Amino acid sequence: MRQPDRSAPFEAVLLLPAYTDAPTVIATRDEPTQLLVEGVHCANGHFNDPAVPYCQLCGISMAQLTHVTVLGPRPPLGVLLLDDGATFRLDADYVVGREPHRDPAVARGARPLRVTGSASGVSRQHLRITLTGWTVRVVDLGSANGTVLEPPRDPHPRRLEPGVPAEITPGTRVAFGLRWLRYESHRNP
Ligand SMILES: [Zn+2]
Repeated sequence: MRQPDRSAPFEAVLLLPAYTDAPTVIATRDEPTQLLVEGVHCANGHFNDPAVPYCQLCGISMAQLTHVTVLGPRPPLGVLLLDDGATFRLDADYVVGREPHRDPAVARGARPLRVTGSASGVSRQHLRITLTGWTVRVVDLGSANGTVLEPPRDPHPRRLEPGVPAEITPGTRVAFGLRWLRYESHRNP
């Protein structure tokens, strides 16, 4: 697998203030998905990712539980926080770009998250956020300026290989063009 290009000019723009001169538009299609996933209940009955040490709703320790998994409707995995302050509930896949509705994934149920601004460096279909079970992934859709992951407490941003999905953890910042979003969750470290 190719190493990220440290010499690329893109990383320099990450130091600029957030690019916020353009409004964010999203199609209003937020009927909850009833996808079933395997999870465990905390002592207070909240449904959780079997991998988390603490309940993501009440914070109680999951250590003493038997960890017998059951199938249940997946709760939102958190939110996407955009650089302009807008938040989007992570209970479905998203396509991010200037013309995200043209991505075929939208016809299959992904939500278009449109970012505008001719100088934003954002491609028409820039990246996709996908949810599988309790896992959130980002895939760059062959964008012109690329997508860079900045995991929390990691000094080395990672440029994504186009078309290769990468798992992100809560707190990870996803930079695309001059814009960015962050995966926020109760499970933030
Ligand atoms: Zn709980």
